[in-house]
Amino acid sequence: MPLYIADEQIENTLGTTVACALKAIKMDIQDHSVTPSLALGLIKKYLQPLMPEADKDILGKLKQVTWDELHWAYPEIIFRGGQPTGLLADIGVSIDLICRYTTNPPREFLSQETVEVGNFLLLCEHLNIRISDEVRYSNNRKFDVFNTCKYCWRQPVPGRLICSSHTAGDKHSPVVLSAKNELSENSPSANYKESKRQKPFFDEFIKSTLSREIWEFHESGFSSPTLIPSHNIFKWLLDRRPHVANLLAQQNMVVNDDEIIDSLLLLLHSPEGFTNTQLEPYQKTNHLIKTNPVLIWPMLLRAEAWLHARKTLRSNWGGKRTQERN
Ligand SMILES: [Zn+2]
Repeated sequence: MPLYIADEQIENTLGTTVACALKAIKMDIQDHSVTPSLALGLIKKYLQPLMPEADKDILGKLKQVTWDELHWAYPEIIFRGGQPTGLLADIGVSIDLICRYTTNPPREFLSQETVEVGNFLLLCEHLNIRISDEVRYSNNRKFDVFNTCKYCWRQPVPGRLICSSHTAGDKHSPVVLSAKNELSENSPSANYKESKRQKPFFDEFIKSTLSREIWEFHESGFSSPTLIPSHNIFKWLLDRRPHVANLLAQQNMVVNDDEIIDSLLLLLHSPEGFTNTQLEPYQKTNHLIKTNPVLIWPMLLRAEAWLHARKTLRSNWGGKRTQERN
């Protein structure tokens, strides 16, 4: 099974050194069925030698791996890589490509959907903020406070990758956001279609924001206020998640430090008209976030990305409509 990516795309995506290494891997695997251990072996042969000594441990510690474990090296490398255009970042991207494109259609990884969670956990590690498995997971790991719909920031329907407001059918009531219909004016199927169109803008915004903020975090010697602070939270939101901050302001919600987390959860993550079973993951998440407000970080980044993507897409439509009229 080959690597299903054209040489041209490899050359356009990566710097010359890493592009050559990835093309060598592509040659080596063209007649093989690629298992995670074969992929790891080739990554160690061609990509690991290109890494700085100090970072080789990321791959060195991997022995017997699953695709998920191998793919996890991607956010870890990106995080260490600092500037998004650097050599390490290219190596990270190559590992992502190998994990996804050695089968057709490509493999989907949850960590690809939640690269912000990986980065968030690494940020916490640097700041000695411990998020234990006991806090994060429950119900035999079926519940994860960071589970998220692939199109937005909400908890997905249990066992699925999307939330009830993005299921194409209408089996579930749409999420009614607390105030106004600003975010829920569409039917579920229109929501779903619009979110599919928004997805590339949404993913791109998450990726570029993460690159920028993590680079800044490293450059500042881990002192920049990257994570949500405990004081002056609204000011932090205005600086770093302005679309979310504006939404709070527009809807006249309370933004003092003691109540802003409640306001955010009310706005973003408190559906109405759900059955108890549908509501449970929302209640659990909200309870955990109220107890540990830092946990809201990935949700805020995704909400910001969603609002940004919607704005971009709708302003593109507006532009097109104006042009057509002219
Ligand atoms: Zn959703």
